[in-house]
Amino acid sequence: MKARSSETRQEFARNTTNSIRELFEQYVVPSYARFDLVLERGQGSHVWDANGKRYLDLGGGIAVCALGHAHPEITEALIEQSKKLVHTSNLYYTEPQARLAKRIVDLTAPGRIFFCNSGAEANEGLFKLARKFGQDQGRYEIITAFDSFHGRTLAGIAATGQTKVKKGFDPAVAGFKHVPFNDLDAPRAAITKSTVAILVEPIQGESGVMMATPEYLIGLRKLCDEQNLLLLFDEVQAGHFRTGKFHSWQRILEDGETDSLPDGISMAKGLGGGFPIGALWVREKLADVLSAGTHASTFGGTPLACAVALRVLDVVERNDLAANARRIGELLIDRLRRMQGKYPRVVREVRGLGLMIGIEFQPDLRAFAREQKSPAIQVVDRLHEKGVLTVPAATSVIRLLPPLNLSESEADEGLHAIEEVIAAFAEQEQEKE
Ligand SMILES: *Cc1c(COP(=O)(O)O)cnc(C)c1O
Repeated sequence: MKARSSETRQEFARNTTNSIRELFEQYVVPSYARFDLVLERGQGSHVWDANGKRYLDLGGGIAVCALGHAHPEITEALIEQSKKLVHTSNLYYTEPQARLAKRIVDLTAPGRIFFCNSGAEANEGLFKLARKFGQDQGRYEIITAFDSFHGRTLAGIAATGQTKVKKGFDPAVAGFKHVPFNDLDAPRAAITKSTVAILVEPIQGESGVMMATPEYLIGLRKLCDEQNLLLLFDEVQAGHFRTGKFHSWQRILEDGETDSLPDGISMAKGLGGGFPIGALWVREKLADVLSAGTHASTFGGTPLACAVALRVLDVVERNDLAANARRIGELLIDRLRRMQGKYPRVVREVRGLGLMIGIEFQPDLRAFAREQKSPAIQVVDRLHEKGVLTVPAATSVIRLLPPLNLSESEADEGLHAIEEVIAAFAEQEQEKE
């Protein structure tokens, strides 16, 4: 009887999964290639699908769920604030927005905050800041890096240094130029009398976790000072304590002098721990560039979003999750590098800082050739079978972007599954055709 009822339950779950998929196929714009998983609930670093299967979430909703899922303090902040005020518009002052702005400035450097709702929007704010700054001199051009990612709005895809996001959306927004990342001569050579800013991700996420060197960031600062350009950092993915400091550039430069960087910073993903919020910081001397009436967002900085973001920062600071991100990140990177040493035919490189980690696979594995999907997607699929969620990047990199409160035993659980997948690839390399 027991077997029968669990069989029925499984069939019920299968039907639920199928009917949800059918609704998607019929009613949702098919702009995403989704994995075949219907996620139903989460707790901490784990989520469960509609079949009741449990997964360790090492993707964190793409670097968003800073405290994992269903964190009681996020729930409490949502409930408390929603009983008072959810939204007012920016026609009025509210306390949570004021407090969050001060908090981000304290974590960054003297400056001002503009609130919005997403990473793309935060970058749009930076583009407008740059154009307004250069307007009187007829300067508008922003230099960005190849393989960068800055969001999916029209200006975002123009800024992004990857052709695949631009295809089909011509004409591109004017005024963006791309140069190689981590190369100081390239932006210097690209500067014209129209150039007004340089925008980079201190750690490129979408293209597979590529880190800027300290020399590069410091060199960009010097170049921008020389040429009167704004230096803008996109911290949407790498920021919010993921690398062990609030911003990833603070971590990259922690052994040196960090006072002079940058002029503007975009933020979003992990800032609200899953509640949508975006923000940009501008250096104090630029505080008046976006003057009254020049930029706005109806939803930007709602009391609810800001109350949640404040609570996320409270929890991160109280539990010193920056230190946890650093420690667990080092543990993961160390163990993954050992796997690379053991299976060099399978793993090409392990890169990362804190809990932003990329594992690059050898793209020419025999197993990969058997399927149409990219190597990255195939690895992510295999990890799903083992009960672990990760995020693909580029063609043969998977990313780990787990909650900042990931425990050592959860890290072990993830490493165990990853090693099993790597070992299976290694074994398949040995097999005769
Ligand atoms: C995700 C991301 C964005 C875009 O953020 P959205 O919230 O999806 O608009 C921009 N820049 C970087 C570096 C990102 O990782």
